[in-house]
Amino acid sequence: MPNPKPETRHSKQVEDPPILYHPSYSTYTFGPNHPANPHKREKLLKLFDALGTPISYIEPELATDEEILTVHTSEYMHCVASASSLSWAPGYLRFGLDTDDVPIFPNMDEAARIQVGGTLLGARMIAEGKAPRVLQFGGGFHHAMPARASGFCIYNDLSIAARYFKSQGLRVAYIDIDVHHGDGVQWVHYREPDILTISLHESGRYLFPNTGFVHEQGEGEGLGASINIPLEQHTDDASYLEAFDRVVPVALERFKPDVLLIAAGVDTHFRDPLAHLILTTQGLESLFNKLIALSDQYTNGRALFAQSGGYDDLASIRAWTILIHTLRGTAYPEELPASFIEEILPEFGADALPLHDQPGDRPSILDKEVMMATNRETVDAILERFSGDEG
Ligand SMILES: [Zn+2]
Repeated sequence: MPNPKPETRHSKQVEDPPILYHPSYSTYTFGPNHPANPHKREKLLKLFDALGTPISYIEPELATDEEILTVHTSEYMHCVASASSLSWAPGYLRFGLDTDDVPIFPNMDEAARIQVGGTLLGARMIAEGKAPRVLQFGGGFHHAMPARASGFCIYNDLSIAARYFKSQGLRVAYIDIDVHHGDGVQWVHYREPDILTISLHESGRYLFPNTGFVHEQGEGEGLGASINIPLEQHTDDASYLEAFDRVVPVALERFKPDVLLIAAGVDTHFRDPLAHLILTTQGLESLFNKLIALSDQYTNGRALFAQSGGYDDLASIRAWTILIHTLRGTAYPEELPASFIEEILPEFGADALPLHDQPGDRPSILDKEVMMATNRETVDAILERFSGDEG
């Protein structure tokens, strides 16, 4: 009797949009007490199975040395490799390794490389015209510097993808909606005029990495190609989307990108334990729709979404479910299926779960007027700079 073919998620058939993922993404783990939980993605796969719309993903390969070296120094890459085999090497701390944010762990080099491989595969698929939009169901390590790990990030997959797009003659607009400033990506491309970086984030006055102010605009030939929208604590859907609408379309109109590269972190959600913006799933859905519309308007639909941060499991799983349905252009369920709730939710301690936040879920804000006014002043300062550039 012939052996039955093994069940595999790996699919040669391209889903719309293609989703890039590898089971070994979950080996990127700093341990059970670290806020970055790598198992959320596995739960999300189970959820889509329960919804009857399973995710068939394409598995990337490890990024090569050559690819890593387009952004990182060889000294740093070799230090990550020795940390990976847990062989002691001098200078871990100098490279930001063996710290509270980036502890060393076995095989960390491979764990980081497979996710770089995913983001790069997405970039290749877009550049080669195989798919306009791709979701890299991992990656988004926007804090990693050329020679320093930082903020849970080892290799900067986003900058590596941006450099790849650039090598293919494409102008890249990087849009970072993660709640933390995309500092690694900004500094890597700070002098590059053909890579625009836009980051919306909780202001560095309150939150790691304490950068991303309006005056950080790029340097030399890159002057003007770095845009920061630092937002007040307790920024809500309305104020966030207003800031986005006032700045991002104008910036894209001026820059004329060929492709959007998006760090689609969902740690702006009000449940997120690491930050203090209070977006809801409804606000995130609007934001995802706006990004898709902007890619249709400015880049012929070309957009690479990478996952980035999200530290509340329930909020992240729901937000990513909405993102995937939005990218697929399919309707999503109002309630998560009972089989998922029974299997997955007991460990979350909830017994029913609407997909969207419900009225009253979000805490009320005391300083709403001040928050809105301050965010408006920030946006005014950015727009004033735009008109100054033209004059
Ligand atoms: Zn983040």
